[in-house]
Amino acid sequence: METYDVGLGCVEITPPVGTPLAGNFRDDYASRGVYAPLCSRTVVIRRSDTALAIISNDLLTVPDKLVRLVRQGISSRCGLKPDCIMVSAIHTHSGPAVEAIADEADGEKIQDMVIPGIIESCVQALDACKPMRLWAAAGKAEGVCFNRRLKLTDGQTLMNWTRPPSDTIDRPLGPVDTEIGILAAGQTSENPSLVLANLALHPAILAGDNWMMGTDWAGYYYDSIHKVFGPNTQAMFLQGAEGNVNHIDARDTQQGRGFKEAQRVGSVVGLSVVDALRDARLVSGPIKSSSLTVSVPPREITPEQLAWAGSVVDATDNSPAGTVDGISDVVFAQDQIEMAGRADPFELEIQVFRIGQVAIVAFPGEFFVEYALEIKAQSPAEQTLVVGLANGSVGYVPTSNAFAEGGYEPTSWRFGKLDPKAGNICAATAIEQLKMLFTDKTDHQRPMV
Ligand SMILES: [Zn+2]
Repeated sequence: METYDVGLGCVEITPPVGTPLAGNFRDDYASRGVYAPLCSRTVVIRRSDTALAIISNDLLTVPDKLVRLVRQGISSRCGLKPDCIMVSAIHTHSGPAVEAIADEADGEKIQDMVIPGIIESCVQALDACKPMRLWAAAGKAEGVCFNRRLKLTDGQTLMNWTRPPSDTIDRPLGPVDTEIGILAAGQTSENPSLVLANLALHPAILAGDNWMMGTDWAGYYYDSIHKVFGPNTQAMFLQGAEGNVNHIDARDTQQGRGFKEAQRVGSVVGLSVVDALRDARLVSGPIKSSSLTVSVPPREITPEQLAWAGSVVDATDNSPAGTVDGISDVVFAQDQIEMAGRADPFELEIQVFRIGQVAIVAFPGEFFVEYALEIKAQSPAEQTLVVGLANGSVGYVPTSNAFAEGGYEPTSWRFGKLDPKAGNICAATAIEQLKMLFTDKTDHQRPMV
């Protein structure tokens, strides 16, 4: 029976209470408590001279500098190649402000608090490597994923968190991807040491009226895995292309927010993962990695936008009000004025891992789910996981249609700064690498059993 060397690591990285929160626009950012510990979790998969590390952090994003320092730290301590290390965030909206959303939050200071723990979780995993089998499975997340962009009957584009009356809604402006990509490792699939799940779904159920740090719905997914398999099984989550997907069912006027809803969503995901593992297929074949960097031009700010931005800033005093969801216009306006002068392109890393017949594609931002569906359709792998918020933080990457439709994500600001072509450039690079990693005819022809 085919085995890999697999190691697991998990280190708590919750910063002290009082650390500014990320994920929402607030009048005051200081966290008031912790409802679930934040951790950095790693799985290392090794065979012959190749080792891959997949690190999932209970954070909102992983900014470029954090990724660089984590990779440097790991490489210098254990020689793992930087481009074989995937550093990702689950995108919890109740994480600490590793990336300043407002000036008062100094993101880099908070990054310094979590970096040692992230490095430690990977070193732990490397030290713990021992022979294990790997399994792949695909679950279905029913009733929890919704495209958050709505087309109203009057033609307007509106976000689902604004809760328009249901008789004014024409349709969602895009798809969702209910597939949960699953990898498990251990001696038997009934009693796994690792359960790793990948799904495109915003952990933003607890909104800007929550003042505590935690893991949103993902924490309840971890809990479900522990309840079924025991506390020693490591549950991991890799966020998908969640840019336009959240949990809000715009037609359900009774649906609440808060911990009860987070528990419902996390438990649905956890139980579908457990169900899917009954049909898990053994993974065999080589492990490989590839990483390419692409240049993407900055978003153009038109003279009309600049005029709008100037008038909004002139009409507002300097302290925009916090919002439970979404961002106030003056924040967009201030950012657009700042963006207008930029000419330098952004460098985006697109990383692809091959683990036997399974592929993992990692994108550095909040990609629209359409890109994941397209990559899965074109991938030569038997199963493809598409991970967002990994190896960098470039903000939203909408489809070109979305720019014509409007709405929140295509708006230009610090989390919407790339040229509209960015998504297509990145998807093409991912598909090219997938084909390259899977054209080796020698050993990938055996189907999963
Ligand atoms: Zn988000």
